[in-house]
Amino acid sequence: MGPVMSQTPAEPIKTLPLVMEEPRGRKKPPRHLADLTPAERKALLEEQGLPGFRAKQLSTHYFARLVDDPEQMTDLPSGQRADLVGALLPELMTPLRTMEADKGTTRKVLWKLFDGALVESVLMRYPDRATMCVSSQAGCGMACPFCATGQGGLQRNMSTAEIVEQVVAGARSLARGEVPGGPGRVSNVVFMGMGEPLANYKAVIGAVRRLTDPTPDGLGMSARGVTVSTVGLVPRIKQLATEGIPVTLALSLHAPDDELRNELVPINRKYPIAELMAACRRYTQGKDRKSHIVYEYVMLDGINDSPALARDLAKLLGDMPAKVNLIPFNPFPQTDYRRSRPEAIRAFSDVLRQRRIITTIRKTRGDDIDAACGQLVGRVQSRQKNRLRQIPVVTQ
Ligand code: SAH
Repeated sequence: MGPVMSQTPAEPIKTLPLVMEEPRGRKKPPRHLADLTPAERKALLEEQGLPGFRAKQLSTHYFARLVDDPEQMTDLPSGQRADLVGALLPELMTPLRTMEADKGTTRKVLWKLFDGALVESVLMRYPDRATMCVSSQAGCGMACPFCATGQGGLQRNMSTAEIVEQVVAGARSLARGEVPGGPGRVSNVVFMGMGEPLANYKAVIGAVRRLTDPTPDGLGMSARGVTVSTVGLVPRIKQLATEGIPVTLALSLHAPDDELRNELVPINRKYPIAELMAACRRYTQGKDRKSHIVYEYVMLDGINDSPALARDLAKLLGDMPAKVNLIPFNPFPQTDYRRSRPEAIRAFSDVLRQRRIITTIRKTRGDDIDAACGQLVGRVQSRQKNRLRQIPVVTQ
Protein backbone atom coordinates (compact mmCIF):
# COMPACT_ATOMS: atom_id res chain seq x y z
CA MET A 1 0.00 0.00 0.00
CA GLY A 2 1.33 3.45 -0.86
CA PRO A 3 1.89 6.32 1.53
CA VAL A 4 -1.15 7.95 3.06
CA MET A 5 -2.08 10.86 0.88
CA SER A 6 -2.33 14.29 2.33
CA GLN A 7 -5.96 15.32 2.58
CA THR A 8 -5.20 19.00 2.91
CA PRO A 9 -6.52 21.23 0.14
CA ALA A 10 -3.86 23.10 -1.82
CA GLU A 11 -5.66 26.42 -1.36
CA PRO A 12 -7.37 28.08 1.57
CA ILE A 13 -11.04 27.20 1.44
CA LYS A 14 -13.20 29.76 -0.29
CA THR A 15 -16.31 30.37 1.72
CA LEU A 16 -19.39 31.38 -0.17
CA PRO A 17 -22.59 32.09 1.72
CA LEU A 18 -25.23 29.34 1.89
CA VAL A 19 -28.53 30.55 0.47
CA MET A 20 -31.67 28.56 1.27
CA GLU A 21 -34.35 30.93 -0.05
CA GLU A 22 -34.57 32.68 -3.40
CA PRO A 23 -34.44 36.50 -3.40
CA ARG A 24 -37.87 38.00 -2.76
CA GLY A 25 -40.02 40.08 -5.05
CA ARG A 26 -39.20 38.43 -8.38
CA LYS A 27 -41.87 38.21 -11.03
CA LYS A 28 -43.35 34.74 -11.45
CA PRO A 29 -42.88 32.81 -14.69
CA PRO A 30 -45.97 32.54 -16.94
CA ARG A 31 -48.50 29.94 -15.78
CA HIS A 32 -48.53 26.93 -18.05
CA LEU A 33 -50.57 23.73 -18.16
CA ALA A 34 -47.53 21.81 -16.88
CA ASP A 35 -47.85 23.78 -13.62
CA LEU A 36 -51.39 22.54 -13.12
CA THR A 37 -53.32 19.35 -12.45
CA PRO A 38 -55.86 18.33 -15.12
CA ALA A 39 -58.70 19.73 -12.98
CA GLU A 40 -56.88 23.05 -12.54
CA ARG A 41 -56.26 23.31 -16.29
CA LYS A 42 -59.97 22.91 -16.97
CA ALA A 43 -60.90 25.42 -14.26
CA LEU A 44 -58.44 27.99 -15.61
CA LEU A 45 -59.94 27.84 -19.11
CA GLU A 46 -63.44 28.18 -17.69
CA GLU A 47 -62.40 31.21 -15.61
CA GLN A 48 -61.33 32.82 -18.88
CA GLY A 49 -64.66 32.01 -20.55
CA LEU A 50 -63.14 29.21 -22.63
CA PRO A 51 -64.49 25.64 -22.87
CA GLY A 52 -62.93 23.48 -20.15
CA PHE A 53 -62.84 20.31 -22.23
CA ARG A 54 -60.24 21.88 -24.50
CA ALA A 55 -57.69 21.49 -21.67
CA LYS A 56 -57.40 17.79 -22.45
CA GLN A 57 -56.72 18.50 -26.12
CA LEU A 58 -54.04 21.02 -25.21
CA SER A 59 -52.47 18.50 -22.81
CA THR A 60 -52.46 15.89 -25.58
CA HIS A 61 -50.65 18.27 -27.92
CA TYR A 62 -48.10 19.12 -25.27
CA PHE A 63 -47.39 15.80 -23.54
CA ALA A 64 -48.43 13.13 -26.05
CA ARG A 65 -47.92 14.61 -29.52
CA LEU A 66 -45.08 16.91 -28.41
CA VAL A 67 -46.42 19.61 -30.73
CA ASP A 68 -45.23 23.16 -30.19
CA ASP A 69 -46.64 24.88 -33.25
CA PRO A 70 -50.26 26.07 -32.74
CA GLU A 71 -50.81 25.65 -36.50
CA GLN A 72 -50.61 21.90 -35.98
CA MET A 73 -53.36 21.93 -33.35
CA THR A 74 -56.04 21.57 -35.99
CA ASP A 75 -58.60 20.03 -33.63
CA LEU A 76 -58.88 23.41 -31.90
CA PRO A 77 -61.28 25.86 -33.55
CA SER A 78 -59.12 28.38 -35.43
CA GLY A 79 -60.97 31.34 -33.90
CA GLN A 80 -60.21 30.17 -30.37
CA ARG A 81 -56.80 28.64 -30.89
CA ALA A 82 -54.74 31.70 -29.96
CA ASP A 83 -56.73 32.24 -26.73
CA LEU A 84 -56.47 28.59 -25.73
CA VAL A 85 -52.75 28.45 -26.44
CA GLY A 86 -52.23 31.81 -24.70
CA ALA A 87 -54.06 30.56 -21.60
CA LEU A 88 -52.32 27.22 -21.14
CA LEU A 89 -49.28 27.05 -23.42
CA PRO A 90 -47.48 30.39 -23.10
CA GLU A 91 -43.87 30.50 -24.26
CA LEU A 92 -41.70 29.68 -21.24
CA MET A 93 -38.18 29.84 -22.57
CA THR A 94 -36.16 30.25 -25.72
CA PRO A 95 -33.12 28.23 -26.69
CA LEU A 96 -30.14 30.58 -27.10
CA ARG A 97 -27.60 28.02 -28.09
CA THR A 98 -27.24 24.26 -28.57
CA MET A 99 -23.86 22.62 -28.31
CA GLU A 100 -23.09 19.04 -29.25
CA ALA A 101 -20.50 16.51 -28.15
CA ASP A 102 -20.00 12.74 -28.35
CA LYS A 103 -20.91 12.74 -32.07
CA GLY A 104 -24.16 14.59 -31.47
CA THR A 105 -25.45 12.20 -28.79
CA THR A 106 -24.78 14.74 -26.01
CA ARG A 107 -26.62 18.02 -26.53
CA LYS A 108 -26.46 20.94 -24.15
CA VAL A 109 -29.05 23.68 -24.55
CA LEU A 110 -28.69 27.13 -23.02
CA TRP A 111 -32.16 28.51 -22.25
CA LYS A 112 -33.26 32.07 -21.66
CA LEU A 113 -36.21 32.26 -19.28
CA PHE A 114 -38.92 34.95 -19.40
CA ASP A 115 -36.98 37.28 -17.09
CA GLY A 116 -33.61 36.80 -18.78
CA ALA A 117 -32.36 34.17 -16.31
CA LEU A 118 -30.19 31.57 -18.06
CA VAL A 119 -30.23 27.84 -17.36
CA GLU A 120 -28.88 24.78 -19.11
CA SER A 121 -30.13 21.26 -19.79
CA VAL A 122 -28.26 18.30 -21.24
CA LEU A 123 -29.60 15.40 -23.30
CA MET A 124 -27.45 12.27 -23.29
CA ARG A 125 -28.36 9.45 -25.62
CA TYR A 126 -26.97 5.97 -25.07
CA PRO A 127 -27.60 2.84 -27.15
CA ASP A 128 -30.33 1.67 -24.77
CA ARG A 129 -31.70 4.87 -23.18
CA ALA A 130 -31.85 8.63 -23.35
CA THR A 131 -31.35 10.73 -20.23
CA MET A 132 -32.36 14.36 -19.78
CA CYS A 133 -30.38 16.22 -17.14
CA VAL A 134 -32.46 19.20 -16.04
CA SER A 135 -31.93 22.34 -14.01
CA SER A 136 -34.28 23.15 -11.13
CA GLN A 137 -32.95 26.59 -10.17
CA ALA A 138 -31.21 29.40 -11.99
CA GLY A 139 -27.91 29.26 -10.14
CA CYS A 140 -27.54 27.45 -6.82
CA GLY A 141 -27.21 28.58 -3.21
CA MET A 142 -25.46 25.50 -1.83
CA ALA A 143 -21.94 26.86 -2.42
CA CYS A 144 -20.09 23.56 -2.93
CA PRO A 145 -16.56 24.73 -3.76
CA PHE A 146 -15.91 22.10 -6.47
CA CYS A 147 -19.06 22.93 -8.47
CA ALA A 148 -19.08 25.69 -11.10
CA THR A 149 -22.81 26.38 -10.64
CA GLY A 150 -22.30 26.98 -6.92
CA GLN A 151 -19.77 29.73 -7.53
CA GLY A 152 -22.39 32.15 -8.89
CA GLY A 153 -24.99 31.90 -6.11
CA LEU A 154 -28.75 31.51 -6.47
CA GLN A 155 -30.77 33.71 -8.83
CA ARG A 156 -34.16 32.11 -8.51
CA ASN A 157 -36.23 28.96 -8.32
CA MET A 158 -37.62 27.60 -11.57
CA SER A 159 -41.32 26.87 -11.92
CA THR A 160 -42.69 23.36 -12.41
CA ALA A 161 -43.44 24.11 -16.07
CA GLU A 162 -39.96 25.53 -16.66
CA ILE A 163 -38.49 22.28 -15.34
CA VAL A 164 -40.88 20.08 -17.34
CA GLU A 165 -40.34 22.09 -20.53
CA GLN A 166 -36.66 21.08 -20.59
CA VAL A 167 -37.72 17.42 -20.72
CA VAL A 168 -40.44 18.05 -23.30
CA ALA A 169 -37.94 19.91 -25.48
CA GLY A 170 -35.58 16.94 -25.28
CA ALA A 171 -38.46 14.57 -26.04
CA ARG A 172 -39.33 16.65 -29.12
CA SER A 173 -35.81 16.56 -30.50
CA LEU A 174 -35.63 12.79 -29.95
CA ALA A 175 -39.08 12.19 -31.48
CA ARG A 176 -38.17 14.27 -34.51
CA GLY A 177 -35.03 12.24 -35.09
CA GLU A 178 -32.70 15.21 -34.46
CA VAL A 179 -30.39 13.13 -32.30
CA PRO A 180 -28.25 10.46 -34.01
CA GLY A 181 -29.73 6.98 -33.54
CA GLY A 182 -33.15 7.51 -35.11
CA PRO A 183 -36.38 8.68 -33.48
CA GLY A 184 -36.46 7.95 -29.77
CA ARG A 185 -37.90 8.85 -26.37
CA VAL A 186 -36.65 10.21 -23.09
CA SER A 187 -36.35 7.22 -20.77
CA ASN A 188 -34.66 8.87 -17.78
CA VAL A 189 -34.65 12.28 -16.14
CA VAL A 190 -31.98 13.30 -13.65
CA PHE A 191 -32.27 16.45 -11.52
CA MET A 192 -28.53 16.99 -11.79
CA GLY A 193 -28.37 20.21 -13.74
CA MET A 194 -28.18 23.64 -12.14
CA GLY A 195 -29.66 24.07 -8.69
CA GLU A 196 -30.49 22.10 -5.57
CA PRO A 197 -33.80 20.37 -6.36
CA LEU A 198 -34.88 19.93 -2.73
CA ALA A 199 -34.37 23.67 -2.08
CA ASN A 200 -37.14 24.21 -4.68
CA TYR A 201 -39.20 21.38 -3.29
CA LYS A 202 -42.73 22.22 -4.36
CA ALA A 203 -41.91 22.96 -7.99
CA VAL A 204 -39.69 19.87 -8.25
CA ILE A 205 -42.36 17.54 -6.82
CA GLY A 206 -44.84 19.10 -9.27
CA ALA A 207 -42.42 18.39 -12.11
CA VAL A 208 -41.91 14.79 -10.98
CA ARG A 209 -45.69 14.35 -10.96
CA ARG A 210 -46.05 15.78 -14.46
CA LEU A 211 -43.25 13.53 -15.74
CA THR A 212 -44.86 10.44 -14.25
CA ASP A 213 -48.58 11.19 -14.71
CA PRO A 214 -50.00 8.98 -17.48
CA THR A 215 -50.32 10.62 -20.89
CA PRO A 216 -51.94 12.92 -21.84
CA ASP A 217 -52.07 14.39 -18.31
CA GLY A 218 -48.29 14.08 -18.10
CA LEU A 219 -45.37 12.45 -19.90
CA GLY A 220 -46.12 8.94 -18.60
CA MET A 221 -42.58 8.11 -17.50
CA SER A 222 -41.74 5.50 -14.90
CA ALA A 223 -40.86 7.04 -11.50
CA ARG A 224 -37.87 4.72 -11.25
CA GLY A 225 -36.45 6.45 -14.31
CA VAL A 226 -36.44 9.76 -12.44
CA THR A 227 -33.51 10.57 -10.14
CA VAL A 228 -33.49 13.49 -7.74
CA SER A 229 -29.99 14.42 -6.62
CA THR A 230 -29.53 16.39 -3.42
CA VAL A 231 -26.82 17.83 -1.20
CA GLY A 232 -28.80 16.34 1.71
CA LEU A 233 -31.54 18.68 2.97
CA VAL A 234 -32.65 16.36 5.77
CA PRO A 235 -36.19 17.73 6.39
CA ARG A 236 -36.91 17.54 2.66
CA ILE A 237 -35.61 13.98 2.37
CA LYS A 238 -38.04 13.06 5.15
CA GLN A 239 -40.85 14.86 3.33
CA LEU A 240 -40.00 13.19 0.02
CA ALA A 241 -40.36 9.81 1.71
CA THR A 242 -44.01 10.66 2.44
CA GLU A 243 -44.94 11.64 -1.14
CA GLY A 244 -45.46 8.08 -2.34
CA ILE A 245 -43.47 8.63 -5.54
CA PRO A 246 -40.77 5.97 -5.94
CA VAL A 247 -38.17 8.26 -7.51
CA THR A 248 -34.54 7.28 -7.15
CA LEU A 249 -32.76 9.44 -4.62
CA ALA A 250 -29.14 10.36 -5.28
CA LEU A 251 -27.19 11.84 -2.43
CA SER A 252 -24.11 13.97 -2.97
CA LEU A 253 -22.04 12.55 -0.14
CA HIS A 254 -18.48 13.26 -1.36
CA ALA A 255 -16.88 12.60 2.04
CA PRO A 256 -17.42 10.01 4.80
CA ASP A 257 -16.70 12.32 7.78
CA ASP A 258 -18.04 15.66 8.94
CA GLU A 259 -14.76 17.51 8.87
CA LEU A 260 -14.16 16.91 5.19
CA ARG A 261 -17.83 17.09 4.21
CA ASN A 262 -18.23 20.46 5.96
CA GLU A 263 -15.68 21.76 3.52
CA LEU A 264 -16.90 20.05 0.34
CA VAL A 265 -20.65 20.26 0.94
CA PRO A 266 -21.17 23.28 3.24
CA ILE A 267 -24.80 22.36 4.06
CA ASN A 268 -23.25 19.53 6.10
CA ARG A 269 -22.66 22.09 8.89
CA LYS A 270 -26.42 22.31 9.20
CA TYR A 271 -27.27 18.65 8.55
CA PRO A 272 -24.28 16.55 9.61
CA ILE A 273 -23.61 13.03 8.38
CA ALA A 274 -25.23 11.16 11.30
CA GLU A 275 -28.55 12.99 10.77
CA LEU A 276 -28.29 12.59 7.02
CA MET A 277 -27.64 8.86 7.16
CA ALA A 278 -30.54 8.39 9.59
CA ALA A 279 -32.83 10.17 7.10
CA CYS A 280 -31.46 8.00 4.25
CA ARG A 281 -32.04 4.86 6.26
CA ARG A 282 -35.64 5.90 6.87
CA TYR A 283 -36.09 6.80 3.20
CA THR A 284 -35.42 3.23 2.07
CA GLN A 285 -37.23 1.57 4.97
CA GLY A 286 -40.60 0.13 4.11
CA LYS A 287 -39.85 0.42 0.40
CA ASP A 288 -39.44 -2.65 -1.76
CA ARG A 289 -36.12 -4.44 -1.65
CA LYS A 290 -35.00 -3.01 -4.96
CA SER A 291 -35.01 0.55 -3.58
CA HIS A 292 -31.64 1.95 -2.78
CA ILE A 293 -30.01 5.33 -2.57
CA VAL A 294 -27.24 6.25 -4.95
CA TYR A 295 -24.39 7.93 -3.09
CA GLU A 296 -22.49 10.29 -5.36
CA TYR A 297 -18.83 10.81 -4.63
CA VAL A 298 -16.82 13.29 -6.69
CA MET A 299 -13.21 12.17 -7.05
CA LEU A 300 -10.90 15.07 -6.15
CA ASP A 301 -7.18 14.44 -6.41
CA GLY A 302 -5.53 14.35 -2.99
CA ILE A 303 -8.66 15.62 -1.24
CA ASN A 304 -11.13 12.77 -0.77
CA ASP A 305 -9.74 9.91 -2.86
CA SER A 306 -7.51 7.89 -0.49
CA PRO A 307 -8.12 4.17 0.19
CA ALA A 308 -8.49 5.05 3.89
CA LEU A 309 -11.47 7.25 3.07
CA ALA A 310 -12.90 4.49 0.87
CA ARG A 311 -12.78 2.19 3.91
CA ASP A 312 -14.50 4.86 6.03
CA LEU A 313 -17.15 5.24 3.34
CA ALA A 314 -17.76 1.50 3.26
CA LYS A 315 -18.09 1.50 7.05
CA LEU A 316 -20.51 4.42 6.96
CA LEU A 317 -22.77 2.76 4.39
CA GLY A 318 -22.51 -0.57 6.20
CA ASP A 319 -25.48 -2.73 5.36
CA MET A 320 -27.67 0.05 3.96
CA PRO A 321 -29.24 -0.50 0.52
CA ALA A 322 -26.69 1.61 -1.30
CA LYS A 323 -24.91 2.08 -4.57
CA VAL A 324 -21.92 4.33 -4.91
CA ASN A 325 -21.36 6.38 -8.05
CA LEU A 326 -17.87 7.80 -8.30
CA ILE A 327 -17.77 10.98 -10.39
CA PRO A 328 -14.38 11.98 -11.80
CA PHE A 329 -14.13 15.72 -11.08
CA ASN A 330 -14.87 17.95 -14.05
CA PRO A 331 -12.71 21.06 -14.03
CA PHE A 332 -13.84 24.64 -14.63
CA PRO A 333 -11.92 27.94 -14.70
CA GLN A 334 -10.68 29.31 -11.39
CA THR A 335 -10.72 26.01 -9.59
CA ASP A 336 -7.74 24.52 -7.83
CA TYR A 337 -9.28 21.09 -7.60
CA ARG A 338 -8.00 18.40 -9.90
CA ARG A 339 -9.50 15.16 -11.08
CA SER A 340 -8.21 12.07 -9.26
CA ARG A 341 -5.80 9.91 -11.17
CA PRO A 342 -7.41 6.88 -12.84
CA GLU A 343 -5.40 4.54 -10.57
CA ALA A 344 -6.74 6.33 -7.50
CA ILE A 345 -10.30 5.99 -8.77
CA ARG A 346 -9.76 2.31 -9.47
CA ALA A 347 -8.19 1.68 -6.05
CA PHE A 348 -11.05 3.54 -4.34
CA SER A 349 -13.68 1.51 -6.18
CA ASP A 350 -11.80 -1.74 -5.44
CA VAL A 351 -11.97 -1.05 -1.70
CA LEU A 352 -15.73 -0.49 -1.92
CA ARG A 353 -16.35 -3.54 -4.11
CA GLN A 354 -14.30 -5.76 -1.82
CA ARG A 355 -16.75 -4.70 0.86
CA ARG A 356 -19.67 -5.70 -1.37
CA ILE A 357 -20.80 -2.19 -2.19
CA ILE A 358 -22.04 -1.86 -5.73
CA THR A 359 -19.83 0.83 -7.21
CA THR A 360 -19.93 2.48 -10.61
CA ILE A 361 -17.71 5.13 -12.12
CA ARG A 362 -19.67 7.81 -13.92
CA LYS A 363 -18.71 8.06 -17.54
CA THR A 364 -17.99 11.67 -18.29
CA ARG A 365 -20.13 13.07 -21.06
CA GLY A 366 -19.81 16.45 -22.70
CA ASP A 367 -16.90 17.88 -20.72
CA ASP A 368 -15.55 19.38 -23.94
CA ILE A 369 -18.65 21.57 -24.16
CA ASP A 370 -18.83 22.22 -20.38
CA ALA A 371 -21.92 20.04 -20.17
CA ALA A 372 -20.58 17.58 -17.61
CA CYS A 373 -21.56 17.35 -13.92
CA GLY A 374 -20.88 20.57 -12.12
CA GLN A 375 -19.92 22.53 -15.23
CA LEU A 376 -23.27 24.18 -15.96
CA VAL A 377 -23.19 27.88 -15.33
CA GLY A 378 -25.92 29.26 -17.60
CA ARG A 379 -23.72 31.74 -19.40
CA VAL A 380 -23.21 32.43 -23.06
CA GLN A 381 -19.63 31.51 -23.74
CA SER A 382 -17.91 32.85 -26.78
CA ARG A 383 -16.77 30.18 -29.17
CA GLN A 384 -13.23 31.44 -28.80
CA LYS A 385 -13.31 31.12 -25.04
CA ASN A 386 -14.81 27.71 -25.28
CA ARG A 387 -12.14 26.50 -27.63
CA LEU A 388 -9.48 27.74 -25.26
CA ARG A 389 -11.16 25.88 -22.48
CA GLN A 390 -11.05 22.53 -24.17
CA ILE A 391 -8.18 21.47 -21.98
CA PRO A 392 -7.59 17.75 -22.30
CA VAL A 393 -8.63 15.95 -19.14
CA VAL A 394 -7.62 12.49 -18.09
CA THR A 395 -10.32 10.09 -19.18
CA GLN A 396 -11.07 6.71 -17.74
N1 SAH B 1 -27.55 20.07 -6.24
C1 SAH B 1 -27.68 18.68 -6.54
C2 SAH B 1 -27.63 18.33 -8.00
C3 SAH B 1 -26.50 18.94 -8.79
S1 SAH B 1 -25.18 18.21 -9.55
C4 SAH B 1 -26.62 17.90 -5.82
O1 SAH B 1 -25.67 18.50 -5.35
O2 SAH B 1 -26.76 16.69 -5.66
C5 SAH B 1 -25.13 16.53 -9.69
C6 SAH B 1 -23.83 15.94 -9.14
O3 SAH B 1 -22.64 16.48 -9.75
C7 SAH B 1 -23.68 16.17 -7.65
O4 SAH B 1 -23.32 14.99 -7.01
C8 SAH B 1 -22.57 17.18 -7.60
O5 SAH B 1 -21.92 17.18 -6.36
C9 SAH B 1 -21.70 16.72 -8.74
N2 SAH B 1 -20.73 17.75 -9.16
C10 SAH B 1 -20.79 19.08 -8.96
N3 SAH B 1 -19.71 19.69 -9.48
C11 SAH B 1 -18.95 18.73 -10.03
C12 SAH B 1 -17.73 18.74 -10.76
N4 SAH B 1 -17.08 19.88 -11.01
N5 SAH B 1 -17.26 17.57 -11.20
C13 SAH B 1 -17.93 16.42 -10.98
N6 SAH B 1 -19.09 16.35 -10.31
C14 SAH B 1 -19.60 17.48 -9.84
